[in-house]
Amino acid sequence: MADIFTKQKRRQIMQSVRRKGTEPEELLRRVLVGMKLKFLKHPANLPGRPDFYLPATKTAAFVHGCFWHGHKRCNKGLRLSKTNSRYWRIKIERNQRRDRRVARELRLAGISVYTVWECELKKGSLPIRLLKKCSL
Ligand SMILES: [Zn+2]
Repeated sequence: MADIFTKQKRRQIMQSVRRKGTEPEELLRRVLVGMKLKFLKHPANLPGRPDFYLPATKTAAFVHGCFWHGHKRCNKGLRLSKTNSRYWRIKIERNQRRDRRVARELRLAGISVYTVWECELKKGSLPIRLLKKCSL
């Protein structure tokens, strides 16, 4: 299917998605700091290099952009089903497969996996769920 945007416009759109995609990670970092939890960022020795790893509770937290990881419970993730773009579909499905594989590897290593969706951070519903999960 032909792209309805020019190449330049398309690039602009995708860059803005990516920019927004990094913002939730910073939001979660602030939450963790606010909760005085000790964490590592992207530890290289763990499968998938989780966005955050909390050693005290052996919890890995991933911040997922709803579009890029195909969140099924929000509009941003569902946009995937409305687009006919095979390119994005394949890319997102690949991300989802990797997410599942990484989560499996982490669990096998005795680490709990916690996925934070971008939309949850924006709604501010996260800290309570995370507190429950991470408090000792
Ligand atoms: Zn979402």
